[in-house]
Amino acid sequence: MSQNPVFIPGPTNMPDAIRKACDMATLDHRSSAFAEIFAPAVRGVKRVLKTTTGEVVIFPASGTGGWEAAISNTLSPGDTVLAARHGMFSHRWIDLCQRHRLDVHIVEAPWGAGCPADRYAEVLAADKSHKIKAVLATHNETATGVKSDIAAVRRAIDAAGHPALLLVDGVSSIGSMDFRMDDWGVDVAVAGSQKGFMLPAGLAIVGVSPKALAAMEAATLPRTFFDFRDMLTAYAGGGYPYTPAVGLLNGLKLATEMLLEEGLDSVFARHHRIAEGVRRAVAAWGLQPCAERPELYSDTVTAIRTPEGFDATALVTHAAERYDVAFGVGLGEVAGKVFRIGHLGSITDVMALSGIATAEMAMADLGLPVRLGSGVAAAQDFYRHGGGAAALAAE
Ligand SMILES: *Cc1c(COP(=O)(O)O)cnc(C)c1O
Repeated sequence: MSQNPVFIPGPTNMPDAIRKACDMATLDHRSSAFAEIFAPAVRGVKRVLKTTTGEVVIFPASGTGGWEAAISNTLSPGDTVLAARHGMFSHRWIDLCQRHRLDVHIVEAPWGAGCPADRYAEVLAADKSHKIKAVLATHNETATGVKSDIAAVRRAIDAAGHPALLLVDGVSSIGSMDFRMDDWGVDVAVAGSQKGFMLPAGLAIVGVSPKALAAMEAATLPRTFFDFRDMLTAYAGGGYPYTPAVGLLNGLKLATEMLLEEGLDSVFARHHRIAEGVRRAVAAWGLQPCAERPELYSDTVTAIRTPEGFDATALVTHAAERYDVAFGVGLGEVAGKVFRIGHLGSITDVMALSGIATAEMAMADLGLPVRLGSGVAAAQDFYRHGGGAAALAAE
C-alpha cells in the first residue's frame, strides 16, 4: 500500500529511521542499557531547546500533559496567572489552568493575532503587589498559524520588574522554529514528541529553568505522575521513577541527533523556505492566511481562510476521501472558516508541492475559483531557486 504524506500540523511525517528506532525489543529500564538511551536523549533535547542551565523532564504523555506538568509543579491553588486567548491551543491551556483552580487573568486577542506583549506589559506594570505568579505564552498558535514573539514577552516582564515565571507552549515550534530557552528567559518550555521531533505521540518534553525549580519547592498544586522532583531524583541515579516509553525515547535520541546533524539553523531555514512556498501558493489562489500580518506567519502551519459561505471543513473531508491526503480542519472560533496545511517535521520542498497540488484539486472539485497549477507554480518558482535571498534576487 502506498502512503501519502500528511499535512496536518502534528502528528507529522516520520523518517523511516525514526520509526525503526522506536521499534525495539523489550529492554529492562532499570539496566544500564536504558541509561545509554535516555542520557543522550536528554542531552539532545537540551541542545534543541538551547538551554545549558535548565533541566529536561520527559513524561509518557502528550503535549497536554506537559502543560499540566508546567502548572502543577510551579503554582499553588488560587495563584493568579496571566494568559492570552488568541486561538484554540491558548484557549485550552487557559481551561486547564482554570480546572486547576488558578485565577486566570485573560487578555483576549483576535484569532489571527499574536500573544499581545504590549498588553501584558500594561497588566504586569499595574500588578504592583506581584499577585501574578506566572505568565503564559503560546509560541506558535497551531489553530491560526500564528507565531508569537517570546523575546517581547520576556521584555514586558523585565520592563515591569516583575518576578513572574514565564511558561511557554512550544509544542508546534520547538525543533522546527528558532526557540531559545535561556536567551528568552523561559522558565518552563513545553514540547511534544509528535511535531518537530517527528515521532509518534506519547512523550511530553519539558524544559525547566533553575528559577522554576526553586518555585517548585513552594508550589502546592497536587502532582504525582507529573512531579518534576521524582523525575529528577530518578534521573540522577540513571533511572526513571516509573516505566518509561523506552522505544519512543530511543526514537527521541535519534531525532535529536538528526536535527543537530542537519543543524538547527538549517532545520529552521528549511521550515521557513517550505512555509514561504506554501504562502506564495495561498497568495496565487487569491486567498488570505488567518495570521494578521507577515511577521506573525508561522513556519510550521498555515491556516488559510476560505471565502465567506464556503465550508472549509468540507474541503478537508473531501481531500481525505478523494485523495487520501490529510489537511487540518479549523478549530474553535475559526471552525469551518479555515483549513490548515501543516508543514513541519520531516518534510521537503517536493512533499510540500504535492500538498499544494492536492489542495488545489480539492478546491477545484468543490467549486472554488482556483486555477489548477497556480499555487504549485508560485511555490515551484520559489523552490527552484532554493528559496530565501537567492530566489528573491532571481525574481
Ligand atoms: C499539538 C499542540 C498541543 C497539544 O498537544 P497534544 O500532544 O495533542 O496534547 C498544545 N499546544 C500546541 C500549540 C499544539 O500545537
